[in-house]
Amino acid sequence: MGMGDYIVIDHMIGPFEFACESVSTGTPFNARVDDDKREIFSDHTFPDQHPSACRFLRPNGSRIICTIHRDSPPQCKFYRCVVMRIFNEKGVDIGMVRGTFSLHSDDPGLRNVWEEACQKIPESDPDSEIRIQVYLENHGYRVE
Ligand code: SF4
Repeated sequence: MGMGDYIVIDHMIGPFEFACESVSTGTPFNARVDDDKREIFSDHTFPDQHPSACRFLRPNGSRIICTIHRDSPPQCKFYRCVVMRIFNEKGVDIGMVRGTFSLHSDDPGLRNVWEEACQKIPESDPDSEIRIQVYLENHGYRVE
């Protein structure tokens, strides 16, 4: 939501295709809007209402998503704002895990299970993300 000064569109180079710059690194890159996100990208209401947001960000139902997932610059791919969304047995969205691998949730049960998982599965484990996901699923949560 605050990346509008860092990911900048220089000009359009084709239908849904743009010459851009990643300002923090001074790196130019070309980005084509993902085929399945062109309809939501074409609605400019959101970026017009949120001038600090990256121009490629759009609402999609209850979520806000990147419309150039395929062509986003390396730092975006590396950071990944949200790596997991966690739902309870009723399908209610009760938490998210950010790219820094921190849980954001007000649900005490989920927080307890998350802490257990983190104690059993070290972050240094190269499979920690998938192992924690399985741990949560084995405790009745749905993870996307
Ligand atoms: S992930 Fe996509 S929407 Fe987010 S800052 Fe990067 S290019 Fe913009």
